[in-house]
Amino acid sequence: MRGFDAIRGQDLPVKILRHYMRSGRVPHALLFTGIEGIGKRTTARLFAMALNCTRSPAGGGTPETAAGDAPCGQCRVCRRIVAGKHPDVIELAPIKGILRIEQIRHLLAGLAMKPFSAPQRVVLIGDAQAMNAAAANALLKMLEEPPEATTLILTAHQRADLLPTIASRCRHLRFSPLASADIVVLLRSALDISDEAAGAVAESAEGSYTRALRLAQAGWLARRDWLLRATGLDQPPTSTPRPLTWALALSAQLAGQKDRIETDFEILKSWIRDLSVWPYLPARIIHRDREATLAHVGATLGAGQLLDLWEVLEKAEKNIAANGNLRLTLDVMTLRMAQVVKGR
Ligand SMILES: [Zn+2]
Repeated sequence: MRGFDAIRGQDLPVKILRHYMRSGRVPHALLFTGIEGIGKRTTARLFAMALNCTRSPAGGGTPETAAGDAPCGQCRVCRRIVAGKHPDVIELAPIKGILRIEQIRHLLAGLAMKPFSAPQRVVLIGDAQAMNAAAANALLKMLEEPPEATTLILTAHQRADLLPTIASRCRHLRFSPLASADIVVLLRSALDISDEAAGAVAESAEGSYTRALRLAQAGWLARRDWLLRATGLDQPPTSTPRPLTWALALSAQLAGQKDRIETDFEILKSWIRDLSVWPYLPARIIHRDREATLAHVGATLGAGQLLDLWEVLEKAEKNIAANGNLRLTLDVMTLRMAQVVKGR
């Protein structure tokens, strides 16, 4: 990690945290909120490093050894925190979706003792909304009588997910969904992926880097390319209508991978959206790495056809979400798609 520069798109919370450090007044409890995968936990770890790095002023270093107020990322303390092995930087996460009272009790017992070595102990509780009522009440005790030299950082999706008695005792910092450009930079530093492909994944990730990474690693691009080929949406309409057997075979393939159906709809809809948007706002398309195909196909489909395709997809998606018969819905969907793109 390279200090706070590693955090992208969260200028305001980072600025506030740096202010706390410089002023030497670090709150006892902080609450980081925002959607999944935008850097809440990474920021919390960096903050823990910055507070304890042996080369930073807060951690006992001198201004000469420090890189401003950012952690060096290289000293023994920083390395142990990155590795999750620092005894005074404690992370708690839900077990099977729940943060239990035993975990909080164990934590409190540890906090009753003095820190091992750190100037500022940091406790990070991720997904704090997963605390059950008993755990939350146990934690409340810690917030009412904060242990010395200890900062508690809770992360959650929204403030309203926590008990008001807990949330009101924390300084609240909001983290924003990431801009696609930031996700692209992060993806490209983590994966071997082209700028355009990273852009396509980022645009589909709804502002979450974790989601983008998951999509990229789950073969999102390959799945998209297969879907476009299988539906024929990467080709101009054929002059003769596609046969009934084509539609039913496609429906069977889609239904056979039920767990992917949600993503499949997202991909198909975003492709139709791109076909509609491309002539007017080429800079706003999602599937940047397939721009040539978009241009080729887009020129042959009318606005009415695109609208019809969109409605066919929407209707099928809603039907499936409402627990309609999957296979039947997909049969109808693929048959209608074949009708819509049978050429003009
Ligand atoms: Zn360091």
